[in-house]
Amino acid sequence: MPELAEVEWYRKQWDAGIGDEIVDLRLHTGEYVFRGTNTRRLRENLVGRRLLKSVRRGKQMLFQFSRDNWLGIHLGMTGKTRSESANFWPAKYDHLVLHQRKRALVFTDQRQLGRIRFHHGRTKPDWWKSGIPEIDSPAFNQKFVDEFLHRHRKAPIKAVLLMQNGFPGIGNWMADEILWRAKILPSKGTAKLAARERAAIFRATKFVVRKSLQTLGKDFSDPPRNWLIHQKWKRDGICPRHHTSLRHTTIGGRTTAWCPRCQS
Ligand SMILES: [Zn+2]
Repeated sequence: MPELAEVEWYRKQWDAGIGDEIVDLRLHTGEYVFRGTNTRRLRENLVGRRLLKSVRRGKQMLFQFSRDNWLGIHLGMTGKTRSESANFWPAKYDHLVLHQRKRALVFTDQRQLGRIRFHHGRTKPDWWKSGIPEIDSPAFNQKFVDEFLHRHRKAPIKAVLLMQNGFPGIGNWMADEILWRAKILPSKGTAKLAARERAAIFRATKFVVRKSLQTLGKDFSDPPRNWLIHQKWKRDGICPRHHTSLRHTTIGGRTTAWCPRCQS
């Protein structure tokens, strides 16, 4: 499932079309990915409009078009956005194609756990608004993290890191990376974390997000070689720090990898 940095990269795939008009539009009416969205209105409002800009928040993307039109995209498990040549013809899973004179902006989703939403209005849609700070913003600080961890003190820390209303954009691999870097056991009860451990989690979260945006988010290149992500899915994965065999378990329904030597 795409996490913060991957979503950032997918968001930029439509940047090529910024400033250009949507001259035609193809979509698969009635598909699950459009649940709750009036696809007729979407079509009527977007054709003839220009793509102005896009923003990301956590794992969500918002594309702004001229004359007060907005398109929200959540990639879900298998969603992808990309740019194709102008004569592109959609295949089975290409549920939305915005045609411009020089290219086609394509959204593909095989499993359809992603979602496309449309909004017409002067301001950003209600479903976009939130008071939750982005991790790479100054508002995401130690105080915010401490308060959030306290609110969810009964849950294991790994499960808390996956909560989008506290750690927007963090998913399974980033949560494991953060806890490995902070040297904390993923199953550890959040209430048991000492102040220095909460500080380590805060620092590791900022670092993993920043570095991921500089690699994956920028050009889909790999995060640094000494990160856990390169080992976590291997059957015989080892801790990049001291080559101890990694352990695996399920926390909050997600496969979790950790090093028994450096995480406690
Ligand atoms: Zn280790």
